[in-house]
Amino acid sequence: MSKVFVIDIAKCNGCHNCQVACKDEHCEQSWMPYAQAQPLTGQFWCKVNEKEHGQVPVVRLSYTPVLGAQDDAIKEYAPECCQEREDGLIVLDPEKCKGRKDIADKFDGVFWNEELEICQGCTGCAHLIDNDWEEPRCVDACCTDALRYVEESEVDLTGAEKRGNVYYLNVPKRFIAGLLYDPEVDEVVIGATVVLMLNGEQIAETVTDDFGDYRFVQIEPGAYELVVSAKGFETKTIAADCTEQDIYVGDEPLAFIDDRRFYPSAADIARRDRAEAVIKWAEMRRDVQMEEDEVANFAVDCPCCGKHLNVQADSGIYRCQFCKADLTEVIAEKAAELAAK
Ligand code: SF4
Ligand code: SF4
Repeated sequence: MSKVFVIDIAKCNGCHNCQVACKDEHCEQSWMPYAQAQPLTGQFWCKVNEKEHGQVPVVRLSYTPVLGAQDDAIKEYAPECCQEREDGLIVLDPEKCKGRKDIADKFDGVFWNEELEICQGCTGCAHLIDNDWEEPRCVDACCTDALRYVEESEVDLTGAEKRGNVYYLNVPKRFIAGLLYDPEVDEVVIGATVVLMLNGEQIAETVTDDFGDYRFVQIEPGAYELVVSAKGFETKTIAADCTEQDIYVGDEPLAFIDDRRFYPSAADIARRDRAEAVIKWAEMRRDVQMEEDEVANFAVDCPCCGKHLNVQADSGIYRCQFCKADLTEVIAEKAAELAAK
């Protein structure tokens, strides 16, 4: 069984630990007969590439570690310069590749050492693997498991992209993002349906979130259309061409075509929710109060506003708490009535 490098881009946070570990292992340190020392500058046997996706305000970064010299194509091009190995690692023999600048010129991950006149690159840390290390230094340094050195048969490589002898999982595809708003009331449109179409065929569907945002991720490059619909608004089609790059479609206004009275705004809904919460709290307080006042209480109806009021006989409260009407008389009548019983 042979092991392979597997890099999961979704897990890579761009910490560069792998790149630094590789430098630490190989700079100014010769591991003959596998590798001569890597010069302090100019060579990156492991390199973490950074790429920006999208436009402000929706921007994403992806990081892609590259072990450039792990590529069978190098072995096919210059088999006489590579060491024979059964585990599939590509190791440029420092003795045999002397003077072969053409290899460094042809392959991105192979570097020319001017001083030693040899080409160099990632050896898969063969010097460690042959000395019972389970994994190379860069893999050992990766704390997110983004970089692995595993048996090929033991890993699910569905959808993986092979570059050289390295498998990449979750290679970023395209995304389309945007925002919908109602220009008349200057508010975002929440819960609008956005359908992603390509050549008249529906590809995906989503709804705008509480901020009016929508997003389609990991889609193939293409000239898409977005069909946008929301209750009360005119349906609209927006062009979204992500053939060349990820795109932020922008803040898109939707035309309101219905009667506003039936569509409370987000601010109205928030106000209503707050008012309902206050009423609920007041009712709760009143219930508690009524329980506490069970003793020595009696009820009267306000002669002015008609509200039913609980009155504590010795509380000295003689005014209606709602309309402030004087209750002295009705309380006196009620008290007399109770006393007569
Ligand atoms: S396997 Fe070794 S030589 Fe290759 S990139 Fe990783 S640390 Fe560097
Ligand atoms: S160490 Fe792991 S997480 Fe950090 S940059 Fe390298 S692959 Fe990515």
